[in-house]
This record gives sequence, structure tokens and C-alpha cells, in this order.
Amino acid sequence: MEVPPTAGLPLELLDLAPRRAELVERIAAALALPPLQLECSGTAALCVALLAARERAPARSEVVVPAYTCPLVAIAVRSLGFSLRVCDLSPDSLDMDAGALVELCSEQTLAVVPTHLGGLVSDVDSACAAAARTGALVIEDAAQALGALDRGQSVGLRGDVGFFSLAAGKGLSIYEGGLLATGDAALRAELARASQQYVPRRILFELRRCIELLGLAALYRPRGLALAYGRGLRRALRRGDPIAAVGDDFPATIPIHRVGLWRQGVGTRAAARLPRFLEALRAQARRRIPRLAAIPGVRVLDERPQTRGSWPFLIVLLADERSRDAALARLWQSGLGVSRLFIHALPDYAYLADCVPRGAPMPHARALAARTLTISNSPWLDDARFERICSEIQQALA
Ligand SMILES: *Cc1c(COP(=O)(O)O)cnc(C)c1O
Repeated sequence: MEVPPTAGLPLELLDLAPRRAELVERIAAALALPPLQLECSGTAALCVALLAARERAPARSEVVVPAYTCPLVAIAVRSLGFSLRVCDLSPDSLDMDAGALVELCSEQTLAVVPTHLGGLVSDVDSACAAAARTGALVIEDAAQALGALDRGQSVGLRGDVGFFSLAAGKGLSIYEGGLLATGDAALRAELARASQQYVPRRILFELRRCIELLGLAALYRPRGLALAYGRGLRRALRRGDPIAAVGDDFPATIPIHRVGLWRQGVGTRAAARLPRFLEALRAQARRRIPRLAAIPGVRVLDERPQTRGSWPFLIVLLADERSRDAALARLWQSGLGVSRLFIHALPDYAYLADCVPRGAPMPHARALAARTLTISNSPWLDDARFERICSEIQQALA
């Protein structure tokens, strides 16, 4: 038995039957979102948003992102020929430091990308304020936050554009997919135009994704995950490669193509189960956070006022790297869904050397990478197993 590190919505056999593809309509209806645009991954959705932004402001070329985020974001920015500006976080927080953000934004800034990690709604208002001063676009990275709410409405709408990921393990999945959302009708038309212009049909690539989705449907369950996830995890950790263990080792090119109708149909049926699944995840997280936070030396990153997370996992912040590593030594290979988010702050990945500017120290992002671990919020992690995790952490810190 292997608990997945994030709470993905499991697929059912019936989901695989061919049907009308109404994926974007169903998700928009379920989460009260405006009309959505489907792309082949969250990263591809970001690329389309950046290309649309470039149409508006051809002279601008810099993209500001948090120093602690998915390496794919850095690869995407680089693949389009833009340059990355990395913003440190506030201390012990997932939000970009508001002061640093203002300093990074200039007449060169194409877009600022506030990011909702772990389904927790981050501070978009500061990004909007910094961007507005220079005329940059705000693109919310809600890849991990489909279903999260900011002041009663879905994340992704407070900035100019938001994108969500439908990748394996990120909530609702069609193996790989991404959604673009905007409340601005003119921008929505520009995003559609950018997609028509830049996104090709690739039949063989789509066929491969169909087979991968069948594999996901078959193996995304406690036994199958031991094979599909646990084996590779343990092998990577044995050879001392944490980057591979969490899947942070991404290829240098971003596949861009259209999503076929069969995969859209699979997601359509699964989308009907999304609202109840999200309810259950939030209830489970709210129940478990006090238990964890009662352990001396443990802090759990939580919802900011007037927001609701989508809770794919809990992010646990410990006093220092030694305590974190002591806890992980007991839990990472336990099959209980304990893991790490991104291994490094962006400037510390050797393989991203040509995507990320070096030099800036990014102390708070680095501290977060060193001191956090994640606990799956999958329903397959039952109370007894969750209790085991708590007591292992307690012993590791004692
Ligand atoms: C996964 C992820 C992405 C990219 O989404 P894909 O669908 O995997 O391409 C972007 N940003 C963050 C924060 C992510 O976690």
C-alpha cells in the first residue's frame, strides 16, 4: 500500500467510456469560473498566457516569479526567450516579499506570477499593485490550487489571468492538461488567438497521452501506486537523488499540442465528483492541522484570512533543516505519502543554470526549501496512518 504524495481525484472505470467532451464547461460550472481555455499542460497554459502578453507589449521581456516554485515555470519562461527575475519570499511564508517585488518590476516586466502552492491562496494584491505601477500583466499560477477560493471566488481571477494544472496528482487529472481563466473578455479573446496561432495538433503525441491516461486510471490506487510511484521514489533516494525522488527533474523542452476529445471526455465525467472531493479534502485538512500543530516545533502553513485552500497536501514547517531531515529519514520511504515540495529554491538547481539568474541569495526561499516537508491529504491516508506520521515526527524532534 502506497499513499500518493498529493490528493489526486481517482478515476473510475466509467470515466473512460467515450462521451461528449464538456470538460471546460463542467469545471467552470462546478467552480463558478468564467469560460475556460484548455491547453495540454499547466506549463503550456502559462506559455500561451505569456505569448498573449507579448502581443500586448512586444518590448517587454522579463517575467517575475517567486524564488520557490516549480522548475517548469523557469523552463517555460526560458523556452519562449524571456528572462526570469526571481523574487524572494517573505520569511516563513509562500508569498513573494512585497518590497522585493516592487524593486524587481520595471518597464521591462512582461508579467508577474504570484503562485498558490499547496492549494493555499497567496497574496495576489501585492503582485497586482507592483505590476500596475509598471503596466505588467499578473498571471496567477494556480497549478496546485484548482478549487481554492479567494474572498469567495475561485483563485486565478484576481490577477489578469490564472492557470490551473490537470497533471497527474494535481486534483482532477487527464494525465497532462492545463486551464486558462480570465474575467476579462478582451484578454480571453487574445488568449484564444495566441492558442490558435501557436498550438499545433500532434496526433501521435496525443495518442501517447491517451495511453498514459489509461495507465494513470489503472495505477492511481493504493496498490498500483507502490509500483507507479513508490518504487521509483525509493530507487531515487537510494542513489541520493532527491530531485528525481520528487519529480523535479524536468526536460528542457515543453511539449505544446492540442488535447484530444477522448481525454476531455474522461475529465468531463470525473469533474462531476470534484466539488465533493474538494469538500472532503478541506474538512480532512482542517481536522488534522490542530493535531500536527500541537507537536512542539511544528508549524503548518495555513489559509490566509478570507481564503479557502484546495488542500492537496499539508505543508509542515520545522525549526531547522536537521529536524526536517530527521523526520524525513523516518517517513519519506514509509509509503505514508510524506514527501517534499520543491527540493531547492530556483537558483539552487544546477540543471536550471541557463534558465535562472545566479547570485542573488534568496535566503527565505532557501530556508523554506530546507525546513519543509509535505504530508499527503489523500483520503487514502486514514486516521491511523496519519497518527503514525504524527508520532514519528514527534519522536524525530524529541
Ligand atoms: C505543476 C506546476 C506547474 C506546471 O503544471 P503542469 O501541468 O505540470 O505543466 C506550474 N506551477 C506550479 C506551481 C506547479 O506545481
